[in-house]
Amino acid sequence: MIQLPAKHSATGNTIFSVMSAMAQQYNAINLSQGFPDFNIDEQLSQFLAKATTDGYNQYAPMPGLPLLRQAIAADLHRRYNIGVDADAEITVTPGATYGIYTALSAVLQPGDEVIIFEPAYDSYIPNIEMNGAKAIPIALTVPDYGVDWNKVKEAITPATKAIVVNTPNNPTGAIWSKEDWDTLAELVRDTDLVIVSDEVYEQLVFDGAKHYSVLEHAELRARSFALYSFGKSYNNTGWKMGYAVAPAEYTVAFRRLHQFLVFTVNTPAQYALAWHIASGSAMQVRPLMEQKRNYFLELMKQTPFTIHQPAKGSYFQLASYERISDLPDMEFAQWLTQEHGVATIPVSAFYHNKKDDKIVRFCFAKKEETLQLAVERLTKLSAR
Ligand code: PMP
Ligand code: GLN
Repeated sequence: MIQLPAKHSATGNTIFSVMSAMAQQYNAINLSQGFPDFNIDEQLSQFLAKATTDGYNQYAPMPGLPLLRQAIAADLHRRYNIGVDADAEITVTPGATYGIYTALSAVLQPGDEVIIFEPAYDSYIPNIEMNGAKAIPIALTVPDYGVDWNKVKEAITPATKAIVVNTPNNPTGAIWSKEDWDTLAELVRDTDLVIVSDEVYEQLVFDGAKHYSVLEHAELRARSFALYSFGKSYNNTGWKMGYAVAPAEYTVAFRRLHQFLVFTVNTPAQYALAWHIASGSAMQVRPLMEQKRNYFLELMKQTPFTIHQPAKGSYFQLASYERISDLPDMEFAQWLTQEHGVATIPVSAFYHNKKDDKIVRFCFAKKEETLQLAVERLTKLSAR
């Protein structure tokens, strides 16, 4: 057999595949991988059916349907009070994972460095390495998951080409403040650094907090790619639909790759989303998910897990098992799945060096009965 190149340093399958498969194998309740276990808005299902029966089954234009891009621009204007050019600045993508990869690929050359914050979504480092570049991970402070800006300043070298930001954050549930963006702007002002802003959980911020998009920061926006996922906003992660927003010149570079990577994205799904967004009556995901977070937090009080900080956003709640076990987190997650029937994600999977703070991630984007059943099982655990 001819040896093929490894392309990146990650070994084995992603933790999401591993834990979801284990959940299935042991018939455990799956609070590991981030996806809702309830149905999507009925209107959106109907629009998808309508798109296919109306005959919208052939290739859409390469950058995405104009109708959808206009609906996105109007939605961004409504929510952030910003003007985005639907033709020149928005590209419809098959999900945000693809958008992040393509943005990085448009920016990077072999030997470049990219700063990321850890814990980090697990595609960032492989995506950076697949482009011949090197990830420079900076650990967020524990347990509040803030940025140590001195570390960022020290990490910027002439080789640094990009910084990946993720707010609201997976897995920590932390969100960036306006001051965080301002500090970043100061640090990159005299550099050629590009920002890749993963904002897939933009609609999921709780307790009246506001999500600050890089698109609202005029200075940073001029050097940024912002990536979004319809999956998180409309509970349809399996559709794998999203979009990228970037200044016109960056969008040209993005589409240079996009046209030869995928060319165009699922047409009926684009029509369905365009109609759904433009209807103005799409189900609001924020109150729904905030209610689920609150419900989950309340239930978790009956268990020996320690919650250092309620999630401020995202699908996820971190919890420490320091009072239950001193197993490494991967072993703890396996044990919890096999012996107690609840699957989680060990947070060490989000660190390049597998840093283990004895914390697991729960996904609360689930039906109340799922959360209740899971926590019932967790109450059987005892503190040491
Ligand atoms: N970024 C983060 C932080 C995520 O949690 C996800 C969820 N899968 C994605 C990107 C990718 O989204 P998509 O499913 O649209 O590719
Ligand atoms: N974003 C989801 C999570 O973090 C799932 C991503 C995936 O399965 N690749 O769990």
